[in-house]
Amino acid sequence: MPSSLPELEAQRSKILAQFTTLGDLRSGSICAVSRRCGKPTCHCAKPDDPGHNPQLRLTRNVEGKTVAESFPSPSAWRKAQSEIDEYHRFQKLTEELIAVNQKICMQRPLEAASGTWTPEEKKRLLRSLKRSPAR
Ligand SMILES: [Zn+2]
Repeated sequence: MPSSLPELEAQRSKILAQFTTLGDLRSGSICAVSRRCGKPTCHCAKPDDPGHNPQLRLTRNVEGKTVAESFPSPSAWRKAQSEIDEYHRFQKLTEELIAVNQKICMQRPLEAASGTWTPEEKKRLLRSLKRSPAR
């Protein structure tokens, strides 16, 4: 269902407005870390067993390494959980913003049908591209 440019722009404004409602947010995920003693006959050897002394941890990636934090209290866990939920909301909004902008870019007409590059323009453009870092 193709939307018109004004409709898409209104949709984008709506998404952008939601960004201002974001609260405290942090990346990471909460998982249970537990010890497995290694005895094949122990209950912890079963795949769905919580293991010994399971602990809640917040793990996140810092420069390629996983950093784990523990929660000193249930309220610390609840706080972290809502901050992570907020981060997921931020990610979803970002995806929506990119998607609607993509559609806008596809529909946005050229400002004016200008002719070809002048040799000076092209030279300047190529020089600026060369200076961009490689991806
Ligand atoms: Zn065990």
